[in-house]
Amino acid sequence: MEFDELELDERLLIARSGTAYFAQCLAELSDRDLDGDTLLPGWTRRHLLAHVGYNAAALCRLLDWAATGIETPMYASTEQRAREIDEGATLGPAALRNLFSHNVARLDERWRDLPARAWTAQVRTAQGRTVPAVETSWMRTREVWIHAVDLASGGRFGDFPTVVLDSLLTDIIGVWHRKDLGTGLVLAVDGRAARAVSQDSPATNTVSGPLAGVVRWATGRGAAGVQIQVDGLTPPSWL
Ligand code: ZN
Repeated sequence: MEFDELELDERLLIARSGTAYFAQCLAELSDRDLDGDTLLPGWTRRHLLAHVGYNAAALCRLLDWAATGIETPMYASTEQRAREIDEGATLGPAALRNLFSHNVARLDERWRDLPARAWTAQVRTAQGRTVPAVETSWMRTREVWIHAVDLASGGRFGDFPTVVLDSLLTDIIGVWHRKDLGTGLVLAVDGRAARAVSQDSPATNTVSGPLAGVVRWATGRGAAGVQIQVDGLTPPSWL
């Protein structure tokens, strides 16, 4: 089962449960812990918290675009996005926690109030892809679940709903395939048919293991619990 086969209500529910999961992982952290490192190179938990808050604000802009037809991109530029995160990371702990919850509430409101016709309106992501507004539910789902793990306070891929793991795998393989990355790589999830990144090239390496482990590896969050046929392989970048 893939995320985009679900009814809209179910998709939004999974995005919201990811937000609750992120909030729960955040609640494990004291204000002082926010100075600590995440799984993302160069980002402290302050940076990550600012990013997850500003990402919700950026998705609000896409939903405004869908509702009004007036183009409002997620970010003015890559530099503006990076600067916003760097500046956000200097906020005090209470302001940072508030930045997260405030923008979560705004995004929820946008989803709740979006006119039915606007869900199919085309908007453009920060990566330059044109997608219907309904895609914001998947974009946010991806962010909150994975970044909850990045907070490094106990979040695990094993806690993700299976449909999120399955859809992440499909998403990642699709991106690699489109960008001509990971040629020859095969992902073999226990109990499932193995999936080659590129059907028409011979397999040169296989990464196998349980679903959560293979997805975790594919997102670049480590190789615990997976077997890599030819040692030392790191996954191609995905986002
Ligand atoms: Zn992110």
